[in-house]
Amino acid sequence: MSADRRKRLFRGSSREESTKPESGLGLLDTIAKGMAVKSRMLLAGAAVGVLFAASAVAGQNDRPPAPATAAAAATLLAPDAVFDGRDGIVHRGWKVLVRGDQIAAVGPDIVAPADAQMITLPGSTLLPGLIDAHVHLFLHPYNEASWNDQVLKESLALRTVRAAANARATLMAGFTTVRDLGTEGAGYADVGLKAAIAQGIVPGPRVLVATRALVATGSYGPKGFDPGFDVPQGAEEGDGEALVAAARRQIGRGADVIKLYADYRWGAGEPSRPTFSIAEMRAVVDAAQAAGRQVAAHASTIEGMRRATLAGVDTIEHGNDGTLEIFALMKAHGTVFCPTLAATDAIERYRGWRGGSPEPAAIVAKRASFAAALKAGVTLCVGGDTGVFSHGDNAREITLMAAWGMPPAAVLMAATSGNAAALGIADRVGAIGQGMVADLVAVQGDPVRDPAVLRSVTLVMQGGVVVRRP
Ligand SMILES: [Zn+2]
Repeated sequence: MSADRRKRLFRGSSREESTKPESGLGLLDTIAKGMAVKSRMLLAGAAVGVLFAASAVAGQNDRPPAPATAAAAATLLAPDAVFDGRDGIVHRGWKVLVRGDQIAAVGPDIVAPADAQMITLPGSTLLPGLIDAHVHLFLHPYNEASWNDQVLKESLALRTVRAAANARATLMAGFTTVRDLGTEGAGYADVGLKAAIAQGIVPGPRVLVATRALVATGSYGPKGFDPGFDVPQGAEEGDGEALVAAARRQIGRGADVIKLYADYRWGAGEPSRPTFSIAEMRAVVDAAQAAGRQVAAHASTIEGMRRATLAGVDTIEHGNDGTLEIFALMKAHGTVFCPTLAATDAIERYRGWRGGSPEPAAIVAKRASFAAALKAGVTLCVGGDTGVFSHGDNAREITLMAAWGMPPAAVLMAATSGNAAALGIADRVGAIGQGMVADLVAVQGDPVRDPAVLRSVTLVMQGGVVVRRP
């Protein structure tokens, strides 16, 4: 991470004594407060707690939820082992003490206070709540409906209700924080969904939202209609100075992060080509940075990745054509790479690939790009482009990153504290440590030995509240 970027992510605040990262965080405060309010409400009244727990676990579990009580303000979780997201090690015999919405203690010698509720998790490893850095809660798998049909034919109400169900599936799968990189034609509905989750109306992860995303005029879709029609697009078009105005408008209406498309295919069957100039993207980065927001760039081509990197974006998504040279450039600039392996895997399977040899060209290219990224040592974040495939199967990206050559412990670090650092929220989530938000997940067995166990979590705690139990 370059000194410049670190300064940006951990910009000295007006509170000089604080080293808290600031970028894109007002919203996290809001969410954290919302969750804290929710947990206080839950702990204050058993009836309310039962109601929430019942709605949260309905359909997941036939057993009635254990009633929350006022005395349960402290909870001692006793798994077989703890992966704290800080040192990459599975610590056998460690326990975690939660009080209210925060982690009070973690380690081998924790004495439970007399008022603590005990949750034993035999055979389990406890991890920080997982983070998916690239989801689209307003999309569902393309083998259910094409992207074009989702954008053009599904009503906003249908898409929003589905997004709420997707948010719930995400949380129940142990992903307690996500970055949603664009509603794909559903306008600003993500801002409302985020508010509904924060207010405890529907269960879901903490969400950083991008709202509409930015594309160069004419570059995006849906395409393929009489050019006389103004077909609604999956993102907001803008160029030059208008692009900065669009970014500021999105921030003003609730965007926590700006998403832009540095390249795209201009016509059906064409390869991707660059869209925005470096100057256009740099102007967006400057405007976003001034507002304390990060910028994520979709880029698959070498030129698109190069321009986005030089423009100063925080993360680059996809990187399908990535080479050792371009990843070295990203590393030098402190740009984080989000490879989205699972999206490529899913799309090729929708086209008929069964996972064997010979591998389709897109998979061969993706493997080569990912190998180059690992070799270059660029910082990797974990985000599957979830929505292209089912929400709730977010761990698919983790298992693919491990299967394609990244050491499992490193993948788990990236999916917890690494993602938290990349998104500028590492002071609150992504690790199990004293004072951190009590977002925790349990899995059966050892996730470093077998990352596939992450695809079936047994317990999920969010902000100190158990939302899924074994
Ligand atoms: Zn995406």
